[in-house]
Amino acid sequence: MSVTQSSTQKTIPILYDPVHNIHDVGTFEKTERAENIFQRLSTDERYHVVSSFVKDMNHITAIHEKDYVDYLRLACEDLQADQIHRCEIVAYDRAKQRKPKSIKAQIGWYCYETTTGICKGTYEASVASAFVALSGASLLRGSNSVEDRGEHDLVYSICRPPGHHATSSRFGGFCYLNNAALAAHYLTRSKPDDRNGEKRRVAVLDIDYHGGNGTQEIFYDRDDVFVVSIHGDPDIWLGELYFWGYSDEIGEGPGKGFNLNLPVDPQDHGAVVDYKAYEGYLDRAIKAIREFSPEFLVISFGVDTSVHDPLGIFAMQNEDYHKIGSRVRETLKVPTLVVQEGGYHPHLGECAHQLLQGLSK
Ligand SMILES: [Zn+2]
Repeated sequence: MSVTQSSTQKTIPILYDPVHNIHDVGTFEKTERAENIFQRLSTDERYHVVSSFVKDMNHITAIHEKDYVDYLRLACEDLQADQIHRCEIVAYDRAKQRKPKSIKAQIGWYCYETTTGICKGTYEASVASAFVALSGASLLRGSNSVEDRGEHDLVYSICRPPGHHATSSRFGGFCYLNNAALAAHYLTRSKPDDRNGEKRRVAVLDIDYHGGNGTQEIFYDRDDVFVVSIHGDPDIWLGELYFWGYSDEIGEGPGKGFNLNLPVDPQDHGAVVDYKAYEGYLDRAIKAIREFSPEFLVISFGVDTSVHDPLGIFAMQNEDYHKIGSRVRETLKVPTLVVQEGGYHPHLGECAHQLLQGLSK
């Protein structure tokens, strides 16, 4: 299957950029992840590959603070080709401490945990990943993008590095720029004649094993983007990774009531969270999104809920992602962008295929 700039075929567009391969900081989040998905989908006639075509940095700084984006660029430029730089002790408390002057020391200011480093290619790969998400959003029917390609009801963006743990001004959890949030914000502003600032309603459904803390932070005070996340309970080991994700975090100000966390404690389900146990949470999420009545849906698709995953502790089988996709499609029926988040096992491509087929018919 060839890479094409055209999306006139009746197959599902897959956004992909091989630039992701220059980012590798020696964690579970490896280059093979995106390649596994790309290989599975690009050799299947039900999909066609599209290169990124929305490449405007203004879309990125609409969500992320400019000094954070500048830091990422400068910090990566500062590294040697084989260097990996991490925040090794503890992240700064910005309210109580001062920002260090040197780019090298600033990593604790801009990274909130100690497992996610940067290498020379991190900035470039992260920007490419963001453009993969934005270009995917632009292909959705009704998005009326300036490129005028909005003719698809279902699009998949193979984003790597992933994004849902990136906040407006900090990285962590293998994420640097929040691809799903960038796509969702882009879609709220996607009317070309939107000169009065009228916003469109977008829902984000995050089904990664880990809570989408970055997406939550970015939209916490907004009522035009409804963020729903099903994830491991923050009160249990592994689920607590990023401190947020409790059910009483519902948004604030105008955003109050537009953030829904559905934490899952395996002990409530005989220690095994398979699809049968997961289905109830999914139905609650879908029901809430239907009541919100969005014009677009962005799915933050983490495959670390799989039984094969070394990080997540849920027990989803490959074919269960088809069931998730079917359930979403049957109930919501809105143009949907799937953005790749986590998942760290060799079945990623097959699980992505299952989800997309469930979403498509
Ligand atoms: Zn995850």
